[in-house]
Amino acid sequence: MDCIFCKIAAGEIPSKAIYEDELVKAFYDINPCAPVHFLVVPKEHIASINEVNSENSAVISHIYEVIAQLAKQLKLDKGYRVISNCGEDAGQTVFHIHFHVIAGVHMGEKLI
Ligand code: 5GP
Ligand code: ZN
Repeated sequence: MDCIFCKIAAGEIPSKAIYEDELVKAFYDINPCAPVHFLVVPKEHIASINEVNSENSAVISHIYEVIAQLAKQLKLDKGYRVISNCGEDAGQTVFHIHFHVIAGVHMGEKLI
């Protein structure tokens, strides 16, 4: 399958990796929208939140454990935002589920 995040997760395309285990990979976004902006993806191909089900949801909770661990490690003490865009209206451009972690700036004007 021609999926850029499958290739990054498999190490076939280089990325600035922060964390990796048998289930997930975290790497910095190529086009950051804040001083800290990284992505966490499962190694397994899941296209979006729409494809999360009882068979594959364990990796999603694992991703949140990894985010909590990385937030401590990177000292994101003032807070951070986690975003997963799902589908066209949300602006999803890469159809391999991913969680943006954004920090290092005060995100005053809230969308939600
Ligand atoms: P989406 O718009 O689907 O929520 O987010 C996709 C994100 O992936 C974007 O923020 C974009 O900058 C990032 N991205 C796309 N291609 C690459 C790549 O090859 N390497 C890295 N590190 N990030 C990428
Ligand atoms: Zn993929």
